[in-house]
Amino acid sequence: MTSPARTIVQKYGGTSVGSVERIQAVAERVLALRSAGHRVVVVLSAMSGETNRLEELGRNISPRPAGREMDVLLSSGEQVTVALLSMALIDKGIQARSYLGDQVCIRTDGNFGRARIESIDTDQLTGDLEAGITPVIAGFQGVDRDGNLNTLGRGGSDTTAVAIAAALGADECQICTDVDGVYTADPRIVDGARRLEQITFEEMLELASLGSKVLHPRSVEFAGKYKVPLRVLSSFEEGPGTLITIEKTTMEQPIVSGIAYARDEAKITMSGVPDVPGVASKILGPIGSAPIEVDMIVQNTGADGLTDFTFTVKRNDYENALTILEKVREQLGARDLSGDNKIAKVSVVGVGMRSHAGVATRLFDALAAENINIQMIATSEIKISVVVNEKYLELAVRCAHDEFDLGTEVVEEERIS
Ligand code: ADP
Ligand code: ASP
Ligand code: MG
Repeated sequence: MTSPARTIVQKYGGTSVGSVERIQAVAERVLALRSAGHRVVVVLSAMSGETNRLEELGRNISPRPAGREMDVLLSSGEQVTVALLSMALIDKGIQARSYLGDQVCIRTDGNFGRARIESIDTDQLTGDLEAGITPVIAGFQGVDRDGNLNTLGRGGSDTTAVAIAAALGADECQICTDVDGVYTADPRIVDGARRLEQITFEEMLELASLGSKVLHPRSVEFAGKYKVPLRVLSSFEEGPGTLITIEKTTMEQPIVSGIAYARDEAKITMSGVPDVPGVASKILGPIGSAPIEVDMIVQNTGADGLTDFTFTVKRNDYENALTILEKVREQLGARDLSGDNKIAKVSVVGVGMRSHAGVATRLFDALAAENINIQMIATSEIKISVVVNEKYLELAVRCAHDEFDLGTEVVEEERIS
């Protein structure tokens, strides 16, 4: 290869390092880049299924495992893969060294299970790169000021990779995974989904935050903030993948760029609540302090000075939220507390929505035509989300994908007209 030497951070996900053969294949890919003269830093996930297995082990030992200990447990999966890949690289004649988060000073904020990266000291990494060594770093983990291990939230090794790329000023951060790019919808549930050549940070951040797990939301946030060129690629085959860009180079944006979904949702309704100032804070305050993250919120003014209050939380917070709210219900003298943990959220995202009216109506009509009842709606400038019964999730995603013709390549003339 004659291209100039570049510094590339490559992250490989669980499936890509899921077996001895796959780890050997990753080593071959790294060897190819090194042989072409590039400086490479590798970030790895645990083997596929491993973090789930560890999480289940923890929950079998304790119904509410201590956050600190859960993070020690969960972060162990990555320790295995970084050692294995480094061994494979060394056998192929590449100087490589495995590192855990604290060995390359990935400083996190101390929030167990959902920590944020505060800083990375790059001395060790730049020293290695100058000496021709390939660092192989455990993703998903860091260490806080008190020396505790922290994990970054599920899927968080994408964020480790982008943070390292930002700290090193790398030429590109490549997220290598089991799909060959970002698609208009999860290709595992929409057959006709199309790979996007590029997508803006803004749209990707919405898609990731709304459930598209191809990228961890904070990795996109980081890449946008620190202007890290970010690409999603296949670990198994060559191809351009999808580039996450600041602006699309096409003349006009399609109205909708992609569909996201989140399966792990639940909704809670407190009805017959006295409709007086401060009631929203009395209901949501204790939830926020738990801390439980609240997503959509709807308040309906009812009759006789009473109101109904509905909001959604992550499904694994559902039981806890109901327990907290039962006490609040009694204090407020509200009539009823009910919930449903079999719901899902489907969202359509596109910066082109800013300049087009009627997108929401098209979505609602398309869902109605399939007899899918919408339970809640939330909109922003570039997204529309609806809550539906979980059993209609896949149908709703396909239906939205068809309605906005996302499987069809938009040709330049159509964009210009
Ligand atoms: P890794 O283990 O490599 O981090 P993930 O499972 O976290 O991989 O993310 C890749 C998966 O994301 C794909 O297998 C795919 O099912 C899913 N996915 C969801 N939405 C999309 C999308 N819009 N484009 C591509 N993949 C998507
Ligand atoms: N191994 C972690 C997880 O499964 C981190 C990651 O894969 O990004 O969530
Ligand atoms: Mg992932």
